[in-house]
Amino acid sequence: MAQQYRITLLPGDGIGPEIMAVAVDVLKVVEKKFDLQFEFQEALIGGAAIDATGEPLPAATLDVCRNSDAVLLAAIGGYKWDSLPSHLRPEAGLLGLRAGLELFANLRPAKIIPQLIEASTLKREIVEGVDIMVVRELTGGIYFGKPRGIFETETGQKRGVNTMAYTESEIDRIGRVAFETARKRQSKLCSVDKSNVLEVSQLWRDRITKLGAEYPDVELTHLYVDNAAMQLLRAPKQFDTIVTGNLFGDILSDAAAMLTGSIGMLPSASLGASGPGVFEPVHGSAPDIAGQDKANPLAQVLSAAMMLRYGLNQGAAADFLEKGVLQVLQNGARTGDIMSVGMQLLGCRAMGEALIQVLEE
Ligand code: NAD
Repeated sequence: MAQQYRITLLPGDGIGPEIMAVAVDVLKVVEKKFDLQFEFQEALIGGAAIDATGEPLPAATLDVCRNSDAVLLAAIGGYKWDSLPSHLRPEAGLLGLRAGLELFANLRPAKIIPQLIEASTLKREIVEGVDIMVVRELTGGIYFGKPRGIFETETGQKRGVNTMAYTESEIDRIGRVAFETARKRQSKLCSVDKSNVLEVSQLWRDRITKLGAEYPDVELTHLYVDNAAMQLLRAPKQFDTIVTGNLFGDILSDAAAMLTGSIGMLPSASLGASGPGVFEPVHGSAPDIAGQDKANPLAQVLSAAMMLRYGLNQGAAADFLEKGVLQVLQNGARTGDIMSVGMQLLGCRAMGEALIQVLEE
């Protein structure tokens, strides 16, 4: 009997519904080829949810997500909702979803696609073959530590305060995700911190090192964050899997992603200890091209591939989708954001059709 999965779809705003439609069509091919059965349920988030219910994350949406095996999200946001107070803006829906599902691990791959290597701002010989996974802690560290705020000092000056803090258990749980992720790749893990200056980083390094004893098959190294930033640009091929805290991960994952040069191609995964993960493109809702059939749907398709690999443990189906994406690019198909001379310019829907043709061959 076919293995069954309940998938929640959150198309959101802007180009979201267009790229989600492609991902769903592609997943229907995966169902047939791998004897899987997806039960799709769609729910509201972001601006679309604000328009319909007044809230960016209706309770019903969170319930549906909790009762599924994985959540596939497109993008949220747009000019229309920019002037609302921050707790009612589309972004609040995203933060609420991460908090509600306790998603503490963010996985951001940065893999050079040979067919798009010219899109990178770095030299071909530096980036060719780059394949990095950044595992970022998502619910702790300086973005959530207390005390925080802008306070008045005794001299009447204002003083801004944030606190970088991690407990042992917070470090251990992200560490475990990172070691397990490295195991599914080249079994090399680099932990990034600032333990030459910060006590919170000393604890981080200590715990990750201890954890390393449980994963003797994974080669563990440590770098200070300033050196890691430099090495990412100097010699990115030395990295396989990187694990780091919330702030350093925010910055390094963007830097690593831009090695590839193409925002319309980048997927991500956010995982919790148990329960469904959320899989979504790195890019936003691109309101400037929404509704014009110009969006690149491939980051959404690659997010579906991450969902298969990390959310549903269907690695072979993930490989199948990723290979299909490479093949459609090899055939010369391009959307506007990755267009180059001599290639065939396609809209969002046509790119989806071209991909499905490749997958069905
Ligand atoms: P954006 O990623 O939406 O767009 C940046 C540029 O990249 C635009 O020119 C856009 O047309 C282009 N682009 C993005 N994705 C593309 C794709 N798939 N195909 C082709 N071109 C693509 O970032 P922004 O303009 O800073 O933000 C727009 C809205 O998206 C804002 O409301 C922002 O808050 C929101 N946003 C949402 C998320 C998310 O849902 N996770 C992430 C970032 C931004």
